[in-house]
Amino acid sequence: MTIVNDIAAPPCTREPVFRDERLYAGANELDAASRAGLGEILAQAHRRCAGCPMLVDCLYRAVVEVDVSGFVACTTEADRASIRDSLGIVVDANQSGSYGPARLGAGPVSHEAVLAARTAHPKDTCQQLAERLGCSTSTIKRHLRRARAEAEQQASALAAVADLPRRIPSVDEVLDAFDSLESSQLA
Ligand code: SF4
Repeated sequence: MTIVNDIAAPPCTREPVFRDERLYAGANELDAASRAGLGEILAQAHRRCAGCPMLVDCLYRAVVEVDVSGFVACTTEADRASIRDSLGIVVDANQSGSYGPARLGAGPVSHEAVLAARTAHPKDTCQQLAERLGCSTSTIKRHLRRARAEAEQQASALAAVADLPRRIPSVDEVLDAFDSLESSQLA
């Protein structure tokens, strides 16, 4: 039997640090115990992304094309929101594209299946739900976030956003905005 090491696979597909639940939680979702060590977890993930050959493409897509969950391309969700604010762009939270599935490594799971699993197992963590459904934690987070947005009746806000003229920033603009983040110097 031949064992093949896929050296081209990006770190996020093989490094355990990217599966840490704390990377997917908002600041307000973490209790004091969960926050402990978060800085080191972020630094570890940051170092791996910083050494990834896909960093520029990954960052651009995560900022401009698809609103993915968790830590991606040396940025948290808050970092990417900050970059978008500085660039004056928005991304539809429900938008889908090639970015997410390419990173998941699992088949698609329906929105209804995620909500049904959450209802049936309300105390499960996102990672446990992901294991039940055979998808990524990122997918679970994305569907739950979508459900929250719908529950909070943000449809009108999204409709207003959809009316805005769409501006497509250049790669250099995104990189400049990223460099202005304090967290970009993390590692
Ligand atoms: S830069 Fe993107 S593709 Fe590379 S390890 Fe980080 S999240 Fe994965």
